[in-house]
Amino acid sequence: MLITNANLITWETPNRILENQAIYIEGGQIKELGSTEELLLHHTSEDRLDAHSQYVMPGAICAHTHFYGAFSRGLNIPGLPAKDFPEILEKLWWPLDKSLSLEAVHYSTLVCLLDAIKHGTTTLVDHHASPNAIQYSLDEIASAVDAAGVRASLCYEVTDRNGEAGAREGITENLRFINLISHGSDLAGRLSATFGLHASLTLSEKTLNDCREAVPEGIGFHIHVAEHFVDEYDSIQKSGTRVVDRLLLHKILGPNSIIVHAVHVDAREIEILKETHTWVTHQPRSNMNNAVGLPQVEAMLRSGIKVCLGNDGFSNAMWEEWKACYLAHKLVNQDPRRMPASLVAQMAIYNNADLARMLFPNIRLGSITPGAEADLMFVDYQPFTPLSAENLPWHIVFGFQDSMVTGTMVAGKLLMKDRQVLSLDEDKITYQARKLVPEVWEKFNKSFN
Ligand SMILES: [Zn+2]
Repeated sequence: MLITNANLITWETPNRILENQAIYIEGGQIKELGSTEELLLHHTSEDRLDAHSQYVMPGAICAHTHFYGAFSRGLNIPGLPAKDFPEILEKLWWPLDKSLSLEAVHYSTLVCLLDAIKHGTTTLVDHHASPNAIQYSLDEIASAVDAAGVRASLCYEVTDRNGEAGAREGITENLRFINLISHGSDLAGRLSATFGLHASLTLSEKTLNDCREAVPEGIGFHIHVAEHFVDEYDSIQKSGTRVVDRLLLHKILGPNSIIVHAVHVDAREIEILKETHTWVTHQPRSNMNNAVGLPQVEAMLRSGIKVCLGNDGFSNAMWEEWKACYLAHKLVNQDPRRMPASLVAQMAIYNNADLARMLFPNIRLGSITPGAEADLMFVDYQPFTPLSAENLPWHIVFGFQDSMVTGTMVAGKLLMKDRQVLSLDEDKITYQARKLVPEVWEKFNKSFN
């Protein structure tokens, strides 16, 4: 395929913005870049896709999400409003995840992936929980990922909150899926696996040991860390150390492991994360919504930790997360110089691309360059001020709207064209979800009786 008349944002290092370009794609990969005129001469019989001077850039990557949370939208939580994050877990997320069947997991994933495709998000790192439908839940998600045509890294969250049997089943589900992926069921590089752990506060010493012993060589963990300070005090009580120290002792950290949030870690914990080359993901919308505070992202980045940007189950429109990140750190520090847009881009673009390369080691994601996968989005943005590689992050924060995404492509296949989703039937999925959700909500409500 030949994409013509594109204004390219390559997100290479350094970034380049190139006008009136063409991209030649073969076997799902970008093979050649050049002027439209030149590439039209070289590839006369190729299928053509006219970008009509839109910006074409790499698809967005989401470093941490929860497909299972989609059916919480509009859900009424009985009783008094949750007063803190532990109560939010007890009153919302834990009763909700227990209400999911395998079918609900499948549709919850599909509605998230529809949203992702519509907003140009092409790779997502998911963290799943459905305690009453554990076995094969990752296959349900994988089949939705297959249908949608995007890429995803999956895991099941092991936890002790559903008893020993629940923890064991979680371990088994991770291992089963990791095994499947390592034996080639990776949808030609569109699926990857990590080993999921909920959070230190719901994991006993024994379960952490069991997980460490079970995990195959080269597979990393994906775990929430110090989202609320209760996680730290729980860890001190259980193990005599803070959360990151505890995970270090259990050999959970390392260059293949992802820790999520790290809001309440101290200076030594930041050092340990740096020393172990552990990935950290930041989700400012979630942090604000749960009122847990904000992590020391700038300090972590300065110390050399690769902090990435996720959405924690919020909309898969990643520029919304950029904007929240840009604003939240200014407000919380009462200093408009904090969190420049270029630093948001460092996380959302470069660090997320590096994380994707760790999770999908055989392919190149996150930039438009020969040899990279043709994972792209088409953006109808008409800047009325000069746009350069240097000021692009500020254009994204102040000018880009997710509704400007008109097309999405993964591995050279169009998933959305002219705002029409091609890989999934939006009406049908919405109809099925609407039919299914009352049952999920009924189960949710029953858990309060
Ligand atoms: Zn999360």
